[in-house]
Amino acid sequence: MNPATGALCAEVPAASADDVTQAVARARQAQPAWGALTFRERARALRRFSHRLMLDPDLLPILISESGKPRFEAEAIELFYTCELVRFYTGRAGRRALRDDVRHPFLFANKRARVVYHPRGVVGVIGPWNWPLLNNFADAVAPLVCGNAVVLKPSPLTPLTSLHIAKLWATEGMPADILQVVPGDGDAGAALVDHADMIFFTGSQATGRKIAATAGARLIPVVLELGGKSPMIVLRDADLPRAAHAAVWSAFAHSGQVCIRTERVIVEDAVADEFTRLCVAEVSQLRRATADAPGAPADIGAMTFPPQMAHVAQQIAEATSQGARVLAGGQPASDKAGNFLAPTLLGDVTPAMGVARDETFGPLLPIIRAPDAEAALRIANDSALGLSGSVWSGNATRAAAMARRLEAGSVCVNDVLVNYFCVEAPLGGVKASGLGLRHGPEALRQFCRIETVVEDRALLGFLSPFLGRHLTFPYNARVLKVIRWFMRRLY
Ligand code: NAD
Repeated sequence: MNPATGALCAEVPAASADDVTQAVARARQAQPAWGALTFRERARALRRFSHRLMLDPDLLPILISESGKPRFEAEAIELFYTCELVRFYTGRAGRRALRDDVRHPFLFANKRARVVYHPRGVVGVIGPWNWPLLNNFADAVAPLVCGNAVVLKPSPLTPLTSLHIAKLWATEGMPADILQVVPGDGDAGAALVDHADMIFFTGSQATGRKIAATAGARLIPVVLELGGKSPMIVLRDADLPRAAHAAVWSAFAHSGQVCIRTERVIVEDAVADEFTRLCVAEVSQLRRATADAPGAPADIGAMTFPPQMAHVAQQIAEATSQGARVLAGGQPASDKAGNFLAPTLLGDVTPAMGVARDETFGPLLPIIRAPDAEAALRIANDSALGLSGSVWSGNATRAAAMARRLEAGSVCVNDVLVNYFCVEAPLGGVKASGLGLRHGPEALRQFCRIETVVEDRALLGFLSPFLGRHLTFPYNARVLKVIRWFMRRLY
């Protein structure tokens, strides 16, 4: 369904467990040839494909129609990010991360250890509905660069972007079965977890835990990118107009359906009134899309997933019954055809309320007051989640020091969300926000089976037969004495 108009976009048959098994088998057969290409050959193919994707006239209309987001977010966030990720991983950073890495052991000067990065085989990428491109095809890029084949299972709410990309993959002459898309629901996802060699999952904690359990039983690696309750700490010396503008954008972009969004603001008491007033003024400026004019310029689009609207409404009702105050928005959807919710600001929120603790993932921003900076940090860290966050202060050094004490995978100083575009650096969740990483060379190497080959060094290798004779059977008491002498001096 098109969430902005309620119209039917398409009907897509769901892949059965058998379809998924067969897709994985085809991927496994095709992968060795892709894995045997040089890095440069794979990189060239992926860059060409990403260029083609960027210029494709149908991609963005499909993405917008199935997600309900404004064109700006589809193009300037999803597509731009995808192109940048491909540029980064297919360039020097990818080549360096994946080339053999030679290390020289301290104890055995006659040896060298060569670290080799092999593809793992078939990586199952399981995506959510909020980013049909950025957390679906784009998440296949790193595994593909490493030489893996990918079977991608998009969300049943937004499968059309991924299916369109699979069609382009075939028509653009990309290697068959190296990227396959299996649309379907949780059963198709579970079948993928049962058969792939590794899983890269983005979605909810509940599903993440199920996937981790199966992966644990199969002993396959998983990367889990889950939800967050990312705090924005606003200190008394912050640039308040800038902070308020950022709070409103990072809370309400894509109607709040953004994993690293600002889920709660914690503001120092001394500036809380002024900051709140500025946020209310910012919200009043937002242009909201409607079902009658879905193409009109708008900042706030539709909610992709109808049950998410009920969850937000329930959080608002619960918080207000406990004393929170609606400062902006708060009304139920007025537009019957589309899934629209007004951006809502809540004041007088206490850290104990559900809205301050549980992920919202919708257009609702609670503002919490803290007596001072240390209290703000304590409230921020008192969470089961740790995905992202930001610290705002006129003193950048102080803010950076506080950022280091925030328990999160990735934190911005005097900015928001931009960390997702810093693809050079790893980004992932701590605590219950996930396992493993996306971005940076660190993430790339997760998709590799790492093998160490220890071999003789060219010049000192002649020592190996001598050492091999004296350090193994038959054990010799005099050699042990020499080893002991060495140990005592070394350590
Ligand atoms: P979800 O867990 O409901 O679904 C995600 C995917 O998992 C879907 O494709 C779904 O069909 C599939 N799935 C469902 N059951 C499965 C099973 N048993 N085995 C395998 N796959 C299964 O999540 P969602 O509602 O689509 O996404 C919203 C969540 O995603 C939010 O919590 C959000 O914070 C999180 N998210 C996190 C990031 C990040 O980078 N950390 C990015 C985007 C979204």
